[in-house]
Amino acid sequence: MRQIAIYGKGGIGKSTTTQNLTAALAEMGKKVMVVGCDPKADSTRLLLGGLAQKAVLDVLREEGEMIDLEDIMKVGFSGIRCVESGGPEPGVGCAGRGIITSISMLENLDAYDENLDYVFYDVLGDVVCGGFAMPIREGKAKEIYIVASGEMMAMYAANNICKGVKKYANTGGVRLGGIICNSRKVDNEEAMLKAFAEKLGSQLIQFVPRDNMVQRAEIHKKTVIQYDPSQPQADVYRSLAMNIDGNEMFVIPEPMHTDELEKLLMEYGLLD
Ligand code: ADP
Ligand code: MG
Repeated sequence: MRQIAIYGKGGIGKSTTTQNLTAALAEMGKKVMVVGCDPKADSTRLLLGGLAQKAVLDVLREEGEMIDLEDIMKVGFSGIRCVESGGPEPGVGCAGRGIITSISMLENLDAYDENLDYVFYDVLGDVVCGGFAMPIREGKAKEIYIVASGEMMAMYAANNICKGVKKYANTGGVRLGGIICNSRKVDNEEAMLKAFAEKLGSQLIQFVPRDNMVQRAEIHKKTVIQYDPSQPQADVYRSLAMNIDGNEMFVIPEPMHTDELEKLLMEYGLLD
């Protein structure tokens, strides 16, 4: 069983990418569980056809500690098991707490069974807070992929996440598996993200174009894989799934210095 965390700044496309990627893995016959680790609790909406899964923290609040696995885990598209950690009420408490509670709850309820090939954690982008670092700090997820684009803030965030990964690499054993570029149609984006990934000592594992088909499928509460499997964008997610399934490059990232990162952005931004 490979346990993988997907990190990246808010709104970059973590949940969309994770759900399309896991749908593609399920299509390949893999057994997958997705654990949403964002207080928004929308990490499994496209797999479940709506916000069908009550967050673990909400179930605990309403029903107390005596809960069954079915209360916190629903089966979605192609057998994918879906869990949402949830979070505290806005402005109250540590938003990372849901992750800690959920993982131990899932352990107690034997959700990590031997038949699973993959567990994905879709984690809100900021590893500065200990709660969000939890999946990697505790060595639950040993493999990290970062979703980024050519926009400056997305790259800053990706670089910061690498600092977190490096910090826990020796104790938790976590490694970076690659950067996923979710395009924002920035100039020279693919080449820039490839250079960025290589500077980190890693690789660009997939370039995902921006495609309105993603929105169209989203309106229907579906992944592109489910909504229209013949779309080119569906093939992009299948390629990402194949690349991750066959990945053998796992590194302790070497984060860039800020001035170095800015130089890279400028260099590629000025290319014709
Ligand atoms: P995150 O989970 O990182 O906060 P989301 O996955 O919710 O981000 O994505 C934010 C929005 O971006 C979504 O509404 C989604 O439709 C859109 N989006 C993500 N990836 C793509 C893409 N490749 N093409 C078009 N729209 C996308
Ligand atoms: Mg999300």
